[in-house]
Amino acid sequence: MPEVEDNYENETICIKFCGSCPTYPGIKGEVLFCARGKSISPKQKSGCNCGLCDIWNKYDLTDFYYCIKRAEGE
Ligand code: SF4
Ligand code: SF4
Repeated sequence: MPEVEDNYENETICIKFCGSCPTYPGIKGEVLFCARGKSISPKQKSGCNCGLCDIWNKYDLTDFYYCIKRAEGE
């Protein structure tokens, strides 16, 4: 899998999907988990918006719940 680039553009896209997700941990500054890795304080799984995300499609990602697990390619 290609690694997701950690940049401002991707951050802006991610916040639209992670930010409205029921599983989003809501820790200030945390976003773009598929590039940066899991949250310091993950929540219980209650749905994941990654499959709707433009980055998920652009980078051909196949996994979900990056805020709980790890970054793509790790
Ligand atoms: S990685 Fe998935 S489960 Fe976690 S906040 Fe983002 S959309 Fe929700
Ligand atoms: S695939 Fe998930 S973690 Fe990655 S940018 Fe999209 S919503 Fe955020």
